[in-house]
Amino acid sequence: MRTLIRNFFICVVVTIISASVILEDYERNRNSLLEEENVHALGGKLQLDSEEAILNKILKQLKEAEVDESFKNPNRFNFSKHYFTYRDEISNSKVYQIIKRMPKGGALHVHGTLMLGADYLLNLTYQDHLYTCYTDDVFELQFSDAIPQRHCPVKWTLLTELRRVSDDVKAFDAAIKQHFTIYSEAQEDIDIIWERFEKACYVIKSLILYRPVREKFLYDSLKRFYNDNVMYIELRSGLHSLYELDGTQHERMYMVKLYQNITKKFKQDYPDFIGIKLIVTKHRGSDIEQIRQTLDFARQIKREVPEMFAGFDLVGQEDKGKPLVDFLPALLEAKEEINFYFHCGETNWFGMATDENLVDAVLLGSKRIGHGYALTKHPTLMATVYKKGIAVEVNVLSNAVLSLVHDVRNHPLAVFLALDLPVVLSSDDPGVWGAEPLAHDFYISFVGVASKHADLRTLKQLALNSIKYSALDNNEKERSL
Ligand SMILES: [Zn+2]
Repeated sequence: MRTLIRNFFICVVVTIISASVILEDYERNRNSLLEEENVHALGGKLQLDSEEAILNKILKQLKEAEVDESFKNPNRFNFSKHYFTYRDEISNSKVYQIIKRMPKGGALHVHGTLMLGADYLLNLTYQDHLYTCYTDDVFELQFSDAIPQRHCPVKWTLLTELRRVSDDVKAFDAAIKQHFTIYSEAQEDIDIIWERFEKACYVIKSLILYRPVREKFLYDSLKRFYNDNVMYIELRSGLHSLYELDGTQHERMYMVKLYQNITKKFKQDYPDFIGIKLIVTKHRGSDIEQIRQTLDFARQIKREVPEMFAGFDLVGQEDKGKPLVDFLPALLEAKEEINFYFHCGETNWFGMATDENLVDAVLLGSKRIGHGYALTKHPTLMATVYKKGIAVEVNVLSNAVLSLVHDVRNHPLAVFLALDLPVVLSSDDPGVWGAEPLAHDFYISFVGVASKHADLRTLKQLALNSIKYSALDNNEKERSL
């Protein structure tokens, strides 16, 4: 009996010990798997110096508190709601306040006419000589020293005069502002929001094609990005003709020189600003001859002002526009001379011309991919993008506002970060949805999309990537880093 009890006792002890060994082993394997994922994620291999490590500790505590609070109270988690419902609360976040002050490197995906918000644009309408053709359906603007001759279903009137005779200036200005933004608290269908977006682009462009206004607009845009700690910008622009008060139209090259001169002046005022380069754009609705002409113009800029030139791209709603294959002969002719930075895969569809634009962008040697939202559905391409170092320009807020994703936790950036794809964060058109130049995109990506474990190293790597994958030459990159 005694032997029986002893054997039973030994058996229990052995079972307990081996169970705890199994548990320990399991825990070790579990930790090492998680650690492996962390190391392989974007920024996971970066070493922080002692000062950065102190900041990281603070940042991690603040971020974890924010994420845990949302995990416990998902109804209060802002990033699953429409951006416009929480935009104005962002500045209360301590994580955001740190990110705002953080050096962000470059913004590589920004459209030149959409960098400043509706309040700023409204102020421009207080300038003299601004005529408007204004009905319920039409809103046209033109600076002129005489009544414009273009067709108007009512009559051209000075905007200052319309404002003066309005009963309620506040209401009048609010109505004008509506034309400069796509602000709406309702979650809208993708086609409706794109229609409003393209209308706003048209109105804004008409306001800032007047040469003196464009000079001011550009300088103030650089200032606003600089204040957000963005030191370099690659601007996408159609580089349309600017005009003077007497109706004189400048050649398109004039705009390139204007960009160059204003940037020079800005760098004199703020010597640590690195500069800007231009990506010449053409609308996807164009025909192949128009694409050829724009590519010729791109060649001319590259020849005459090489320091300002980055490359070529196509713009407009991708699902509605022509796919890259439609322009293949023209693009193949230019491929060796002009760097491409194609918007592609900006869609929720799979197996359509839009997401398959990604194939053509890679085959045409695109230096970076604008959006690449559909990339996770093309694993072979994703592997190529990784291997060849084709950076993906991710614009989370743009994708949310333009109705590709309603809860940013589902944004493919989460996968890109986990796989350490060459990602750069940018902001696309922050003015038209009233976002900060780049800080909102960084904050929402960091807290709303990236893993809770992603820390300062992720942010630092994103800033470093924006220099590494820019169109700067090697000397400029070294200086910038
Ligand atoms: Zn864009």
